[in-house]
Amino acid sequence: MARDEVDLFVIGGGSGGVRAARIAAGHGARVALAEEYRLGGTCVIRGCVPKKLMVYASRFSDEFEDARRFGWDVGEPRLDWSILKRNRDAEIARLETIYGSLLHTAGVETHHERALIEDAGTVVLPGSGRRIKAGHILIAVGATPTLDPPIDGGELAMTSNGVFDLERRPDRILVIGGGYIAVEFAGVFAGLGSETTLLHRGDKLLRGFDEDLRDGLGEAYPKRGIALALGTTLERIERAGEVLRATLSDGRVLEVDDILVATGRRPHSGGLGLERVGIETDEIGAVPVDVYSRTSVPTISAVGDVTNRANLTPIAIREGHAFADTVFGGKPTAVDHGLIPTGVFSTPEIGTVGMSEVAARARHGDDVVIYKASFRPMKATITGRDERTMMKIVVDGPTDRVLGVHLLGHDAGEIIQLAAVALGMGATKADFDRTVAVHPTSSEELVTLRTPFVTKKSVAVG
Ligand code: FAD
Repeated sequence: MARDEVDLFVIGGGSGGVRAARIAAGHGARVALAEEYRLGGTCVIRGCVPKKLMVYASRFSDEFEDARRFGWDVGEPRLDWSILKRNRDAEIARLETIYGSLLHTAGVETHHERALIEDAGTVVLPGSGRRIKAGHILIAVGATPTLDPPIDGGELAMTSNGVFDLERRPDRILVIGGGYIAVEFAGVFAGLGSETTLLHRGDKLLRGFDEDLRDGLGEAYPKRGIALALGTTLERIERAGEVLRATLSDGRVLEVDDILVATGRRPHSGGLGLERVGIETDEIGAVPVDVYSRTSVPTISAVGDVTNRANLTPIAIREGHAFADTVFGGKPTAVDHGLIPTGVFSTPEIGTVGMSEVAARARHGDDVVIYKASFRPMKATITGRDERTMMKIVVDGPTDRVLGVHLLGHDAGEIIQLAAVALGMGATKADFDRTVAVHPTSSEELVTLRTPFVTKKSVAVG
């Protein structure tokens, strides 16, 4: 028998909502959760996980090529998209089931439908017509991709959601955007053999990242056959028989099979009933919250992408967990958004934590010291592949404290996780230097960089 009254109603079964529901139930709360699409949310169903599986798939083309230089006879590799899609979708379905079981085991009642806020203590499920009283409501509805700015023929393009529905590999694809999602998918399609153009209105990819990462990727992508159209916008899309015709601001017309627009995501707060309880969102629809994820209404909190703080899965999970500990565990917990390591699963990959050089100089001025290495990875000495690995450490000279680490190259996402532990502990450059190198690896550069690349005496930062 479904409950008509709960201690906590969670709207949204993604990273933040599921964690909050499980932890609150563990603290003894009666919890219900509604998910209108598929349990697991963006990350599991159409974000991090299926994307990373596609990244793996895309990197085999390099491996096949490189293997020949190591003596392997690999024949002519051929991609069967239907096998890739089937196996990827099966894995996602498996994870979705696990999410359902986790909630069930925790005693959370799950409603597979849309939920709306009726008042500060009531949630309605319009699909089934149910109305549930809740001591506390958690908004964990995430964000959705947007077509921004709107253009003529925009409905002919797909967003990142559509990538996972493609029934065949596009022979030619145009990817729009300069953020991590656009960059990652451009790398994926190029690796899978699509003729790929990446168009971005800015003059460099990955705004907000360290400039050496931006420059490094900007140099690497054309070498991998990805055509970059920077400082350019998309004016119009038209269908011409089987193909799409994209008119660019520089006057060029590209004929492609698919267009992926990855220019932004907006909090999914529209139509949720926030106006009924007096919660005002910001200009993009984000729900304002304090460090404990509380909204302006005492019985309503919000976590994850809908709050637009740091739109990453581990952050949504932490916010959900901290919310449950605060409200139901008697342990007020604020989430620290200060030091967030991230990976960008482009090829070459990026791993980054802490301050970029520009941000560090804005705060510490001429005291910033940079250590940097750019080198050909060992494997490329035999494969002949034209690629570089870049490693950079940003240090505050007077305290010797490491402010940021930025990596471009193989396994950068894996390496940066441990660098983040060191930075979180307040590591100094001397701590890095004291660490014995693991040889032969790329990451040993991080502990063997002795000479400042630029010093406060010679630097000129633009
Ligand atoms: P979501 O996971 O989006 O969950 C919200 C859920 O609420 C959804 O399932 C939605 O269907 C449901 N919902 C919405 N409204 C209602 C309603 N009214 N009633 C019921 N249910 C509702 N992050 C990383 O850390 N690493 C990555 O590599 C990474 N890659 C990404 C790649 C892509 C292509 C995308 C799009 C995102 C990626 N992200 C990545 C971001 C990550 O997916 C999000 O930060 C994370 O999923 C946010 O979790 P959330 O709980 O806030 O929202």
